[in-house]
Amino acid sequence: MRDSLPRHFPARARIAVLTCEPVGVLDYLAPEGGVRQGQLVLVPLGPRRVLGLVWGEGAGDFDLAKLRPVTRVIEAEPFAPGFLDFLIRAADYTLTPPPLMLRMATRAPDLDQPPAARRVIVPAGDPPQRMTEARQRVLQVMADHGGASFAASELAHLAGVGTSVVKGLVAQGALAEIEAPRDAPYPHLDPARPGKPLAEDQQAAADALRAAVGAGGYGTTLLRGVTGSGKTEVYLEAVAECLRAGRQALVLLPEIALSTEFLDRVEARFGARPGEWHSGITRTERRRLWHIAGRGEVGLVVGARSALFLPFRDLGLIVVDEEHDASYKQEDVVYYSARDMAVLRASIAGAQVVLASATPSLESWVNAASGKYARLDLRARYGEAELPDMAAVDLRAEDMPSGRWISPTLAQAVEARIVRGEQALLFLNRRGFAPVTICRACGEQIGCHQCDARMVEHRFQNRLVCHQCGETRPIPEACPSCGVEGKLAPIGPGVERIAEEVAARFPDAKATVLSSDLFQSARALKETIAELAHGRTDIIIGTQIVAKGHNFPRLTLVGVIDADLGLQGADLRAAERSFQLMRQVAGRAGRQSGQAPGLALLQTHQPDHPVIRAILSGEDEAFWDAEAAARQAAGMPPFGRLAGIILSHPDLGVVSDFARLLAAHAAPLRAAAAELWGPAPAPIARIRGRHRMRMLIRAPRQAPLQAAIADWLAPHKPPGNLRLAVDIDPQSFF
Ligand code: ADP
Ligand code: ZN
Repeated sequence: MRDSLPRHFPARARIAVLTCEPVGVLDYLAPEGGVRQGQLVLVPLGPRRVLGLVWGEGAGDFDLAKLRPVTRVIEAEPFAPGFLDFLIRAADYTLTPPPLMLRMATRAPDLDQPPAARRVIVPAGDPPQRMTEARQRVLQVMADHGGASFAASELAHLAGVGTSVVKGLVAQGALAEIEAPRDAPYPHLDPARPGKPLAEDQQAAADALRAAVGAGGYGTTLLRGVTGSGKTEVYLEAVAECLRAGRQALVLLPEIALSTEFLDRVEARFGARPGEWHSGITRTERRRLWHIAGRGEVGLVVGARSALFLPFRDLGLIVVDEEHDASYKQEDVVYYSARDMAVLRASIAGAQVVLASATPSLESWVNAASGKYARLDLRARYGEAELPDMAAVDLRAEDMPSGRWISPTLAQAVEARIVRGEQALLFLNRRGFAPVTICRACGEQIGCHQCDARMVEHRFQNRLVCHQCGETRPIPEACPSCGVEGKLAPIGPGVERIAEEVAARFPDAKATVLSSDLFQSARALKETIAELAHGRTDIIIGTQIVAKGHNFPRLTLVGVIDADLGLQGADLRAAERSFQLMRQVAGRAGRQSGQAPGLALLQTHQPDHPVIRAILSGEDEAFWDAEAAARQAAGMPPFGRLAGIILSHPDLGVVSDFARLLAAHAAPLRAAAAELWGPAPAPIARIRGRHRMRMLIRAPRQAPLQAAIADWLAPHKPPGNLRLAVDIDPQSFF
């Protein structure tokens, strides 16, 4: 498939128009030289210019004179045929209209802009007629960089002069301003450079992955290894093999925008940095990477989930690191799981998938158990580092005066770390100061005007914030309901409240709160994380962002403030999620070789809960097996299939009428042996003023779920402004 030549259309072409509204395919006049199937082009549509994809040859019976011409070919290199195939099958799977899927794969990077060159400054040779100190500095910077090119402003900045100095040198012929191509290839990664010597179990795993990549076909491997076992070192060997084979590799990371550590490791291994794809890079870089990936001129891309929709020319390997992470599921416009789509894409491209995690998703665990995926295990931490000791702190037996959340046992352990100059992490997965603000006069809980949700006090910002819609308002003096003043009280803790307690109880310790809402930008958060790893913070107080893969070398104690927090709730994945989160957080402790093993303390009211017991005992496999057995008995994923339907509209009557109409015509679902549950109010029954109702569909594993849903929904057009979202394999019951 990689080598088949795309068909060429010299005169006219049928083009799939990529707009939000369903337009479909239209015929256009080809530009001089024709177009080729799979090329991305710009075409006129009414008064607009829109993206289009060359689909096939135009119909012969058209009057050529009446056809509008293609405006411009955006990328001469047509999409790899497997890429289109992937997009169409991903659209089928997720019940997304194909043009919308194509748009998602082509929308981000300013592709409709001309392939503008960048104006850059290069050396030109003539010495200036008059040399000044400022001019001297500019020329020195050029000389220091061996004749590299710079944007004028960048050069001026480096030399510490105004841009007029640079322009003056250009006017005098000492420098020249030229147009340089924007979409330049990425530096070559060298797979021949030696990697770190691997430990025995690492070597065995790396050999297996290398063999699989070298063999060149599709396969998926679950790479399971405890935190700190060296999964990254191992899969970098698979990347090396992929590069040696001349194919492209993609590594997906859940919080790539927050981490430079991974990029540094790639550079250390291969001598250059990979292409980066996430929300933190500039539009120019996004556009460049999009084109370069399509031309096969970048060997390794590291990215967030949407990198999976880059038009790679020849993908040989996809690594999904921390494959259990919830951020791989997109729940907006197109509902998809990047993990599942990685497997789909690889199976079409003839590529290998590596799913890496210390705490795999139940889906992947079951697929490995059934032999659908291969499985590799790293059972010990690398080197001398040991896994942390684990213990429960039974809050029923601790002296916990009201307004305190750190038990005497945990406080003592923190104190011991401070004395030894080590770091402690207090984990609570709740942003803000207090989740509930209640009026002690009337009992009212302050809620959001737009959502069926409580306002959360954020004391550092001195505001109440709705975590659903982001609305904020000042913390009022008087109760908005009864008007009594001075009776509003915060109930329960968030990380800011723990920080307050830490400040009171450990007044000499340096504490830092790590919570996404406290940082203006990803960069600021990234800098703080780096500073925590190397600086002298004694106590880190953090939400789930601390759980994700960061290395804090001096961290030897993890205290989970409320281990019971995620255990309640009707969500299918409550136990699984809670287990993963706590295991990951505990894994932050004592990752350094040669250190005493770390300690993780779980504060709980239910030390006998199966999840807590599994975390403490370290019997992860028994936990997954038990969880899998329970899902199987209930016919739930991954043994049965689920789809979620969310309907929303500002008027509750409109939502419930339409939901009832759908429920009354569910014969196509029943014909596929699928059950319909609901409609019922969604767990968050109103967001941003829209009322929300939910339906769930459960079907046996082999049932044609998507086709049945499509048949069911097709005859019923939603009334204007009613939003209907279909979520195949929902991750939460929203
Ligand atoms: P994981 O991804 O499984 O949590 P990492 O790959 O991040 O583990 O490895 C944990 C730490 O151990 C890192 O600092 C890494 O550099 C180090 N490490 C792992 N394997 C080796 C090795 N073979 N040689 C040297 N250092 C290693
Ligand atoms: Zn709100």
